[in-house]
Amino acid sequence: MIKSNFTKREKDGVIYYTIPSFDRTKLVKHLFSTRIKGFSKPPFDSLNLGINREDSIDDVRKNYEIICKLLDISIDSIAFSNQVHGTDIRIVDKSHTAKDILLNNNEEGIDGLITNKREIALCTFYADCVPLYFLDPSKKVIGLAHAGWRGTAGKIAEKIIDKMVDLYNCLPKDILVGIGPSIGPCCYEVGENVFKTFNENFTKLEKLLISKGDNKWYLNLWQANMVILKGRGILQKNIIISKLCTNCNNDKFYSYRKEDGKTGRMAAVIQLL
Ligand SMILES: [Zn+2]
Repeated sequence: MIKSNFTKREKDGVIYYTIPSFDRTKLVKHLFSTRIKGFSKPPFDSLNLGINREDSIDDVRKNYEIICKLLDISIDSIAFSNQVHGTDIRIVDKSHTAKDILLNNNEEGIDGLITNKREIALCTFYADCVPLYFLDPSKKVIGLAHAGWRGTAGKIAEKIIDKMVDLYNCLPKDILVGIGPSIGPCCYEVGENVFKTFNENFTKLEKLLISKGDNKWYLNLWQANMVILKGRGILQKNIIISKLCTNCNNDKFYSYRKEDGKTGRMAAVIQLL
């Protein structure tokens, strides 16, 4: 496996990742989970945190207990996204937590979460899409965004930064960003519709899409988000890309592409201390 810029950690056999620049602030608890050492059976084996799926509810609950114990947080403190590959963002407060994690409550679609409240854990879900973590250590504001190709082309990263600036007076130069494990440019083959969408939304496309002929391209979602972030004033030195490809490392991570959609979900979790 390629050496990651994230820090690999292990506790009681559970493997997870953290972002070194976030760790150094000592302001947050956070992680990106793996599929290792949970209770779920195949094809969700084993630390599936996806809700509203076909996996056993009891197993998913037990998996959440593992994550909560790992971070020393209460399950009642978690605020979840309701991901629809959109770019809508929710400003999270206490009223968004403490709902039963496995109830399908038909909420509006939300792919980004922001809060400046302590002791609320933001949580978003992944199997190949890009997890984006945000932390302003100066204003003490955190955010998460779920950016697949649609969310990346829709520039959800930019929308998170704009909200942090508008609502909390964050300065882009202060904001730390982590780009988590997700399908890499090595594996993410896309067709003409994705190419066209990126062509409409980005310049210097040759850095984001490598042609492999036959109207197929390899898309670099990590670089696309990097371009967006730098365009909004985030400093390159404050952006850390994990460099972990979920498709290449299917033993550690769920991969929607590799497993034909029949798989579980990892979670990104972050909470202000
Ligand atoms: Zn790969």
